[in-house]
Amino acid sequence: MSAQLPTTYAFLAPFRDYFSGGLPVLMYHKLGPRPPGVRLKGLYIGEKLFARQLLELRQAGYRSLDFDALADDVPVQTAKTGAGRIGISFDDGYVNVLKYGLGPLEEHGFQALQYIVADNIGGGNDWDLPEGEAYEPLMDQAQIREWLAAGHLIGSHTRSHAKLPELSVAQAREEIGASKKKLEDLFGQPILHFCYPYGFWNERVRDLVIEAGYRTATTTQFGLNDAATSPFELRRIMARYQSWGLRSLRQRLFG
Ligand SMILES: [Zn+2]
Repeated sequence: MSAQLPTTYAFLAPFRDYFSGGLPVLMYHKLGPRPPGVRLKGLYIGEKLFARQLLELRQAGYRSLDFDALADDVPVQTAKTGAGRIGISFDDGYVNVLKYGLGPLEEHGFQALQYIVADNIGGGNDWDLPEGEAYEPLMDQAQIREWLAAGHLIGSHTRSHAKLPELSVAQAREEIGASKKKLEDLFGQPILHFCYPYGFWNERVRDLVIEAGYRTATTTQFGLNDAATSPFELRRIMARYQSWGLRSLRQRLFG
Protein backbone atom coordinates (compact mmCIF):
# COMPACT_ATOMS: atom_id res chain seq x y z
CA MET A 1 0.00 0.00 0.00
CA SER A 2 1.29 3.41 -0.93
CA ALA A 3 2.10 5.72 1.95
CA GLN A 4 0.05 8.35 0.13
CA LEU A 5 -3.12 6.28 0.17
CA PRO A 6 -5.84 7.85 2.33
CA THR A 7 -7.57 5.58 4.86
CA THR A 8 -11.01 6.67 3.64
CA TYR A 9 -12.48 7.26 0.20
CA ALA A 10 -13.59 10.64 -1.09
CA PHE A 11 -12.19 10.81 -4.63
CA LEU A 12 -10.86 8.24 -7.08
CA ALA A 13 -7.53 9.91 -7.87
CA PRO A 14 -5.46 8.63 -4.92
CA PHE A 15 -6.94 5.12 -5.30
CA ARG A 16 -6.70 4.77 -9.06
CA ASP A 17 -3.56 2.62 -9.13
CA TYR A 18 -4.38 0.81 -5.91
CA PHE A 19 -7.80 -0.32 -7.19
CA SER A 20 -6.17 -2.20 -10.06
CA GLY A 21 -4.81 -4.68 -7.50
CA GLY A 22 -8.14 -6.30 -6.63
CA LEU A 23 -11.85 -5.81 -6.13
CA PRO A 24 -12.78 -2.68 -4.17
CA VAL A 25 -16.03 -2.50 -2.18
CA LEU A 26 -17.01 0.95 -0.93
CA MET A 27 -18.81 1.30 2.40
CA TYR A 28 -21.23 4.20 2.76
CA HIS A 29 -23.64 5.07 5.57
CA LYS A 30 -25.68 8.25 5.07
CA LEU A 31 -26.32 10.64 2.19
CA GLY A 32 -27.53 14.21 2.03
CA PRO A 33 -27.45 17.15 4.44
CA ARG A 34 -26.40 16.59 8.05
CA PRO A 35 -29.07 17.29 10.64
CA PRO A 36 -27.98 19.43 13.61
CA GLY A 37 -26.19 17.68 16.47
CA VAL A 38 -24.58 14.92 14.42
CA ARG A 39 -21.41 13.51 16.01
CA LEU A 40 -19.88 11.55 13.14
CA LYS A 41 -20.24 14.23 10.48
CA GLY A 42 -18.01 12.46 7.97
CA LEU A 43 -20.53 9.63 7.59
CA TYR A 44 -22.85 12.00 5.70
CA ILE A 45 -21.94 12.44 2.07
CA GLY A 46 -23.78 15.23 0.26
CA GLU A 47 -25.84 14.36 -2.79
CA LYS A 48 -23.58 16.38 -5.10
CA LEU A 49 -20.40 14.73 -3.84
CA PHE A 50 -21.98 11.29 -4.13
CA ALA A 51 -23.05 12.03 -7.71
CA ARG A 52 -19.55 13.30 -8.46
CA GLN A 53 -18.01 10.11 -7.03
CA LEU A 54 -20.24 7.95 -9.25
CA LEU A 55 -19.53 10.12 -12.29
CA GLU A 56 -15.78 9.72 -11.70
CA LEU A 57 -16.11 5.96 -11.38
CA ARG A 58 -18.22 5.72 -14.50
CA GLN A 59 -15.84 7.90 -16.50
CA ALA A 60 -12.96 5.69 -15.33
CA GLY A 61 -14.80 2.69 -16.77
CA TYR A 62 -16.04 1.13 -13.54
CA ARG A 63 -19.20 -0.92 -13.40
CA SER A 64 -21.07 -2.30 -10.40
CA LEU A 65 -19.97 -5.46 -8.77
CA ASP A 66 -22.78 -8.00 -9.03
CA PHE A 67 -22.93 -9.05 -5.37
CA ASP A 68 -25.10 -12.01 -6.30
CA ALA A 69 -22.37 -13.22 -8.64
CA LEU A 70 -20.07 -13.37 -5.62
CA ALA A 71 -22.63 -15.73 -4.13
CA ASP A 72 -22.47 -18.27 -6.93
CA ASP A 73 -19.60 -20.25 -5.47
CA VAL A 74 -17.17 -18.48 -7.74
CA PRO A 75 -13.94 -17.11 -6.37
CA VAL A 76 -13.93 -13.37 -5.75
CA GLN A 77 -11.40 -12.96 -8.55
CA THR A 78 -13.75 -14.48 -11.13
CA ALA A 79 -16.76 -12.44 -10.06
CA LYS A 80 -14.95 -9.26 -10.75
CA THR A 81 -14.54 -10.36 -14.40
CA GLY A 82 -11.32 -8.59 -14.97
CA ALA A 83 -10.77 -5.05 -13.94
CA GLY A 84 -13.33 -2.34 -13.58
CA ARG A 85 -15.77 -3.72 -11.03
CA ILE A 86 -16.60 -1.89 -7.83
CA GLY A 87 -18.99 -2.80 -5.02
CA ILE A 88 -21.18 -0.04 -3.58
CA SER A 89 -22.64 -0.85 -0.16
CA PHE A 90 -24.60 1.11 2.43
CA ASP A 91 -24.83 0.10 6.08
CA ASP A 92 -28.00 0.32 8.21
CA GLY A 93 -30.68 1.17 5.60
CA TYR A 94 -31.22 4.91 6.02
CA VAL A 95 -34.12 6.75 4.36
CA ASN A 96 -31.64 9.41 3.22
CA VAL A 97 -29.90 6.85 0.99
CA LEU A 98 -33.19 6.24 -0.80
CA LYS A 99 -33.89 9.96 -0.96
CA TYR A 100 -30.50 11.22 -2.16
CA GLY A 101 -28.95 8.08 -3.62
CA LEU A 102 -31.49 6.66 -6.06
CA GLY A 103 -31.15 9.50 -8.56
CA PRO A 104 -27.34 9.52 -8.84
CA LEU A 105 -27.21 5.69 -8.88
CA GLU A 106 -29.71 5.57 -11.72
CA GLU A 107 -28.07 8.42 -13.61
CA HIS A 108 -24.68 6.73 -13.58
CA GLY A 109 -25.92 3.17 -13.93
CA PHE A 110 -24.69 1.70 -10.66
CA GLN A 111 -26.38 -0.91 -8.50
CA ALA A 112 -25.97 -0.75 -4.70
CA LEU A 113 -26.57 -3.03 -1.73
CA GLN A 114 -28.12 -1.78 1.51
CA TYR A 115 -27.75 -3.79 4.71
CA ILE A 116 -31.00 -3.69 6.70
CA VAL A 117 -31.40 -3.92 10.49
CA ALA A 118 -34.40 -6.25 10.39
CA ASP A 119 -36.13 -5.27 13.66
CA ASN A 120 -35.66 -1.52 13.02
CA ILE A 121 -37.45 -1.31 9.67
CA GLY A 122 -39.39 1.96 9.75
CA GLY A 123 -37.57 2.93 12.96
CA GLY A 124 -34.22 4.57 13.52
CA ASN A 125 -30.61 4.10 14.56
CA ASP A 126 -31.45 3.25 18.20
CA TRP A 127 -28.08 1.59 18.73
CA ASP A 128 -26.28 4.91 18.09
CA LEU A 129 -28.33 7.03 20.50
CA PRO A 130 -26.61 5.98 23.76
CA GLU A 131 -23.36 7.28 22.20
CA GLY A 132 -25.03 10.67 21.74
CA GLU A 133 -25.47 10.32 17.99
CA ALA A 134 -28.37 12.12 16.28
CA TYR A 135 -31.49 10.17 15.34
CA GLU A 136 -31.70 9.17 11.70
CA PRO A 137 -34.75 7.36 10.25
CA LEU A 138 -34.42 3.97 8.60
CA MET A 139 -36.44 2.86 5.58
CA ASP A 140 -39.86 1.34 6.20
CA GLN A 141 -41.21 -1.61 4.22
CA ALA A 142 -42.62 0.51 1.40
CA GLN A 143 -39.34 2.41 1.05
CA ILE A 144 -37.33 -0.82 0.94
CA ARG A 145 -39.68 -2.07 -1.78
CA GLU A 146 -39.04 1.16 -3.68
CA TRP A 147 -35.27 0.57 -3.35
CA LEU A 148 -35.65 -3.00 -4.64
CA ALA A 149 -37.97 -1.95 -7.47
CA ALA A 150 -35.25 0.44 -8.67
CA GLY A 151 -33.02 -2.59 -9.21
CA HIS A 152 -30.94 -2.44 -6.04
CA LEU A 153 -30.21 -5.12 -3.44
CA ILE A 154 -30.66 -5.63 0.27
CA GLY A 155 -28.79 -7.75 2.76
CA SER A 156 -29.00 -8.34 6.50
CA HIS A 157 -27.27 -6.32 9.22
CA THR A 158 -28.72 -8.55 12.03
CA ARG A 159 -32.02 -7.98 13.86
CA SER A 160 -30.86 -5.25 16.24
CA HIS A 161 -27.41 -4.06 15.06
CA ALA A 162 -25.89 -6.45 17.59
CA LYS A 163 -22.28 -6.73 18.74
CA LEU A 164 -22.16 -10.36 17.67
CA PRO A 165 -18.96 -11.56 19.37
CA GLU A 166 -20.41 -10.47 22.74
CA LEU A 167 -23.48 -12.70 22.38
CA SER A 168 -24.04 -16.35 23.27
CA VAL A 169 -24.10 -18.75 20.32
CA ALA A 170 -27.89 -19.00 20.61
CA GLN A 171 -28.33 -15.21 20.62
CA ALA A 172 -25.90 -14.71 17.74
CA ARG A 173 -27.60 -17.45 15.72
CA GLU A 174 -30.94 -15.67 16.28
CA GLU A 175 -29.59 -12.27 15.20
CA ILE A 176 -28.01 -13.77 12.08
CA GLY A 177 -30.62 -16.38 11.11
CA ALA A 178 -33.91 -14.75 12.16
CA SER A 179 -33.01 -11.47 10.42
CA LYS A 180 -32.49 -13.40 7.18
CA LYS A 181 -35.83 -15.18 7.53
CA LYS A 182 -37.67 -11.97 8.42
CA LEU A 183 -36.31 -10.09 5.40
CA GLU A 184 -37.07 -13.04 3.12
CA ASP A 185 -40.66 -13.26 4.42
CA LEU A 186 -41.24 -9.51 4.10
CA PHE A 187 -39.71 -9.00 0.67
CA GLY A 188 -40.13 -12.41 -0.97
CA GLN A 189 -36.58 -12.90 -2.12
CA PRO A 190 -33.52 -14.79 -0.88
CA ILE A 191 -31.26 -12.77 1.40
CA LEU A 192 -27.73 -13.80 0.52
CA HIS A 193 -25.59 -10.98 1.86
CA PHE A 194 -24.65 -10.13 5.43
CA CYS A 195 -22.72 -7.32 7.07
CA TYR A 196 -21.19 -7.58 10.57
CA PRO A 197 -22.43 -4.61 12.67
CA TYR A 198 -19.52 -2.38 13.79
CA GLY A 199 -17.34 -4.75 11.76
CA PHE A 200 -17.22 -7.00 14.84
CA TRP A 201 -16.78 -10.66 14.02
CA ASN A 202 -14.75 -13.71 14.93
CA GLU A 203 -14.51 -17.25 13.54
CA ARG A 204 -17.49 -18.45 15.58
CA VAL A 205 -19.65 -15.59 14.26
CA ARG A 206 -18.45 -16.13 10.70
CA ASP A 207 -19.32 -19.83 10.90
CA LEU A 208 -22.85 -18.95 12.08
CA VAL A 209 -23.21 -16.67 9.03
CA ILE A 210 -22.19 -19.57 6.77
CA GLU A 211 -24.50 -21.97 8.65
CA ALA A 212 -27.46 -19.58 8.17
CA GLY A 213 -27.08 -19.83 4.39
CA TYR A 214 -25.63 -16.44 3.50
CA ARG A 215 -23.21 -16.37 0.58
CA THR A 216 -21.21 -13.24 1.38
CA ALA A 217 -20.38 -11.11 4.42
CA THR A 218 -18.63 -7.75 4.57
CA THR A 219 -16.34 -6.44 7.29
CA THR A 220 -14.96 -2.97 7.95
CA GLN A 221 -11.39 -4.09 7.40
CA PHE A 222 -9.65 -1.78 4.92
CA GLY A 223 -8.43 -3.34 1.72
CA LEU A 224 -9.19 -4.92 -1.63
CA ASN A 225 -10.51 -8.41 -2.31
CA ASP A 226 -8.88 -11.03 -4.47
CA ALA A 227 -8.93 -14.75 -5.12
CA ALA A 228 -7.53 -15.43 -1.64
CA THR A 229 -10.24 -13.44 0.16
CA SER A 230 -12.98 -15.45 1.86
CA PRO A 231 -16.44 -14.28 0.67
CA PHE A 232 -17.33 -14.13 4.39
CA GLU A 233 -14.49 -11.76 5.22
CA LEU A 234 -14.82 -9.19 2.44
CA ARG A 235 -12.81 -6.03 2.99
CA ARG A 236 -14.22 -2.59 2.33
CA ILE A 237 -13.04 0.99 2.02
CA MET A 238 -15.05 3.54 3.95
CA ALA A 239 -16.39 6.46 1.96
CA ARG A 240 -16.22 9.54 4.12
CA TYR A 241 -16.68 13.22 3.62
CA GLN A 242 -13.29 14.89 3.81
CA SER A 243 -13.25 18.58 4.50
CA TRP A 244 -10.13 20.50 3.61
CA GLY A 245 -7.65 19.97 6.44
CA LEU A 246 -5.77 23.04 7.61
CA ARG A 247 -2.58 21.88 5.93
CA SER A 248 -4.16 21.23 2.53
CA LEU A 249 -6.14 24.45 2.83
CA ARG A 250 -2.89 26.34 3.40
CA GLN A 251 -1.33 24.57 0.43
CA ARG A 252 -4.32 25.44 -1.69
CA LEU A 253 -4.24 29.08 -0.68
CA PHE A 254 -0.53 29.67 -0.52
CA GLY A 255 0.95 26.90 -2.70
ZN1 LIG B 1 -24.18 -0.60 10.96
